[in-house]
Amino acid sequence: MTVPYVLALHGGAGTIERGRDDGPYREGLRAALAAGEAVLAGGGSALDAVVETVMSLEDCPLFNAGRGAVFNADGEHELDAAVMDGRTLAVGAVAAVRRVRHPVQAAREVLRDGRSVLLAAAGADRFAAARGLEQVEPAWYATPERRAQWQQLRARDPRAQRLDHDAAAAAPNGARHGTVGAVARDRDGHLAAATSTGGMTNKMAGRVGDSPVIGAGTYANDASCAVSATGTGEHFIRACAAHELHARLRYARQPFADAAWATLREGVASIGGSGGLIAIDAAGEIALPFVSAGMYRAWAREGGERGVAVFEA
Ligand code: ASP
Repeated sequence: MTVPYVLALHGGAGTIERGRDDGPYREGLRAALAAGEAVLAGGGSALDAVVETVMSLEDCPLFNAGRGAVFNADGEHELDAAVMDGRTLAVGAVAAVRRVRHPVQAAREVLRDGRSVLLAAAGADRFAAARGLEQVEPAWYATPERRAQWQQLRARDPRAQRLDHDAAAAAPNGARHGTVGAVARDRDGHLAAATSTGGMTNKMAGRVGDSPVIGAGTYANDASCAVSATGTGEHFIRACAAHELHARLRYARQPFADAAWATLREGVASIGGSGGLIAIDAAGEIALPFVSAGMYRAWAREGGERGVAVFEA
C-alpha cells in the first residue's frame, strides 16, 4: 500500500522585512519544490527527494547555501550540511567544507560510504573530491551583497555573529538569503531530512552550527518525524532541537503541531534563540513553526495542499 508523498522546504528564518519584492525568492522556493516533487512523483525515495531539493536551493545564489554563502570572521566561507534517512537512521554530514559545490551531496556520500557520520574541514573536502563531486574555488561562493553585509556588520561590531537574514535586514540594500533545508515522506511512507548552510554572518573561523549536528538542526526517524531547522545554531544545538521534537512525539505522545511549537518556544526561544523548523510526521502532517519575524518556506502534498510563504499564514 502506498501513501501520498509530502515535501516541505525552507530558505532560512530571521528578520525579514515586509513590503520588499519577494518574487525571485519565491521562484527559487518553487523551483526547489518542483525538483523534489519530480523525484517523489517518479516513485523515488524521500532521501533522494530532500537531496535534490536542497541541491536546487544550493545552486540558487539567493540562498545562504552553496553559492551565496555568508562570510565568516576571516572573510572566508565554511559550509555545513547533513542528510538523514528515517528508514534506517543512516546519517551523513560535513562541516566547515570550503571546496565542494554541493555540500549536501558530500553529506550524502558520507552516508553512502558508511564509515563515519560527520567529516569536517580539509578531510571532508578531500573525501568529496575523491568521490567525484564537483569542486569550486573558494571565491565561487562569494557574492558582492554578502561581502557588503559582512563588512557592515563588522563595522558595527567585529565580534558579532548574525543570522543571515538579520544581518541583511540591518544592512541598507542588504540581500536576503537563508540556510536551506528539506523534509519529505515518500509513497512508501519513509521519511528523510536534509539541511545545508553557509552558517551565520561573521561566525568565528572553525565554528560549526546546528545544521550538520544530528538531533540539533537535522533529524529523521520513520517512527516520529523528519526535521530541518534554521536559526541561531548554538541555541538549536543546546536545545537538541530536532531530537527534542522526535522525543516529544515518540515518548510524550504530544500532538504534532503542539510538539513542534513547544520545541521552539520551550526549547530554543527559552534560552534566547530564534529561528524556525520544518517537519513532517509519520502520518504525513506538516508543521512549519518559527519564532522569528519570518521564515521562507514551501510545501506540497500529493493530490492536496501546496503553498509558498514568508510570514504568518
Ligand atoms: N542554523 C544556521 C547556523 O547556525 C544558520 C541559519 O539557519 O541561518 O549555522
